[in-house]
Amino acid sequence: MNITVYCGSSMGNNELYRNSAVIVGTWIAKNNHTLVYGGGASGLMRLLADTVLENGGKVLGVRPDFLADLEPAHPGITQLIKVENMSERKKIMIENGDAYIALPGGLGTIEEISEVLSWAMIGRNSNPCIIFNSGGFYDDLKKQFEKMVDSGFLTKENERLILFSNSMEEIEDYIKNYKLKAMNKK
Ligand code: AMP
Repeated sequence: MNITVYCGSSMGNNELYRNSAVIVGTWIAKNNHTLVYGGGASGLMRLLADTVLENGGKVLGVRPDFLADLEPAHPGITQLIKVENMSERKKIMIENGDAYIALPGGLGTIEEISEVLSWAMIGRNSNPCIIFNSGGFYDDLKKQFEKMVDSGFLTKENERLILFSNSMEEIEDYIKNYKLKAMNKK
């Protein structure tokens, strides 16, 4: 499978955030999946890609050249797709992913995972979406989603299209079951 991962171009200040990149990167490589990510060489993005590569896995990066001054490109990934802009980057990362995982990150990460989540809610994304909640980083977002349900802006059914977890075992089961259910529906 191709696993698209969104995460910070910064490292964050908690060891648990770094651990999440190592856990997910190792899992991707050891299970012969391919990492699809933004192609950057900074922060958790770099740590994630390096972990996959060090464990013998494949990495596809997707990025526009104009980012070079802001975020260096990773020099050693398996394949790089150059795009014109951020919209195209997101599109290609979505099209090439069989599951989407967000690790801790900033506004770029939120922007990217929000897109796949909102698409899932309108039936335009049939792949699993996971928020890797290491160190409780996304606890407040989870609460916000619950508030959306309580306030009548999000259905309970749609809330279930998102898994918050910090257990790779639980995430793996969720992805497998999600895919099985999708196959049975066809
Ligand atoms: P951040 O979580 O803010 O560190 O950003 C993570 C990644 O998302 C970085 O590679 C950013 O360049 C990227 N990013 C920021 N804004 C957007 C956007 N609007 N669309 C797609 N990617 C973005």
